[in-house]
Amino acid sequence: MFGLTCLIAGCSGGPSAVVPSVRHYAHPGDADALAEIVAYSSRSRTKLPPDYVLGRLRQRGGVPVIDAAFDRVVAHDTPATRSELLRAIELDFVHRADTSSLDLVGTELGERFRSFDWQHEDYPGGDEGPNEMYAGTLADALDGVTPERRANRAAVAVIVRDEATPELWEYMLGQWREVPGEPRREGEGNWKLNRHAVGAYVEMREAAARDGVDLTILSGHRDPRRARENAARVGNSFAVASFSSHSLGLAIDFELPRPDGETSDDEDAGGRFRLSTRPMSAVVDMRRSPVHKWLHLYGREFGWYPFQHEPWHWEYNPPGFRAVFFDEFPGGPPQRDAASVAGT
Ligand SMILES: [Zn+2]
Repeated sequence: MFGLTCLIAGCSGGPSAVVPSVRHYAHPGDADALAEIVAYSSRSRTKLPPDYVLGRLRQRGGVPVIDAAFDRVVAHDTPATRSELLRAIELDFVHRADTSSLDLVGTELGERFRSFDWQHEDYPGGDEGPNEMYAGTLADALDGVTPERRANRAAVAVIVRDEATPELWEYMLGQWREVPGEPRREGEGNWKLNRHAVGAYVEMREAAARDGVDLTILSGHRDPRRARENAARVGNSFAVASFSSHSLGLAIDFELPRPDGETSDDEDAGGRFRLSTRPMSAVVDMRRSPVHKWLHLYGREFGWYPFQHEPWHWEYNPPGFRAVFFDEFPGGPPQRDAASVAGT
């Protein structure tokens, strides 16, 4: 354990010695100690739980890219080589079939959520399932990994229902832009998003592609005028459907491909998870999609945040975005008090 002692106390002298930035390890035992140190000191650099990182580092001979990155840390332990190692472990995590975003809440708790005997109706809302409260627990646990920032709800909202005057709707619709490379059905043009969300999304899509992950929009904008008409037609005068983050141009429903090389019995789904809120076990399983795992690890860097109950639904609402969203609206964002966002 000579190397471990050096790492903590420094090798070249007493307590005042400067810890060298590059260390060399001669003994295999030192590599084991280093694996533990990397795993348990990496919380600020990765969302992967320490025990997951350690598990991967102990499986030497398993994943060549990780092995090579770890060898570089063993040879030269620097912040840069450690970052490269953690990135290699993250990308392997994203693409593996046996991992899930639920592992990010901690491997033990994640495994409990994954192997739990979910019943068909346990998804919140609609007919009540016997374990519905645990679906809420699952969402809360994921919120500890990547917190929601809903664009249409609560204090962080860009806009809440009561603020949506006709002038504001007109302004919001005027801010929509087509997203390059994301066609809707034949002859309907591309999906649209708020102009700020478009740039952030395209940048994110390119970053994901570099990591071997294809982001594809299944559903983007939802025209509030059409949604209002539909709601009125079915006798819903409150037009519940018309105030969604999709109608603000700030939400995407993503396709969720299965892990690389995995096929399903469901031929119609074509290599993707079928997106549905029933059965609950399917909603749990689709968190194995590389897209979902990648978004949980990196989406926030591009301003995109989850809606925990729906793995496919992500919203653009980075901190400070409300002011940006209203920068061309006369008078700026509507005045807001606590009462106007309570219970929304
Ligand atoms: Zn959605």
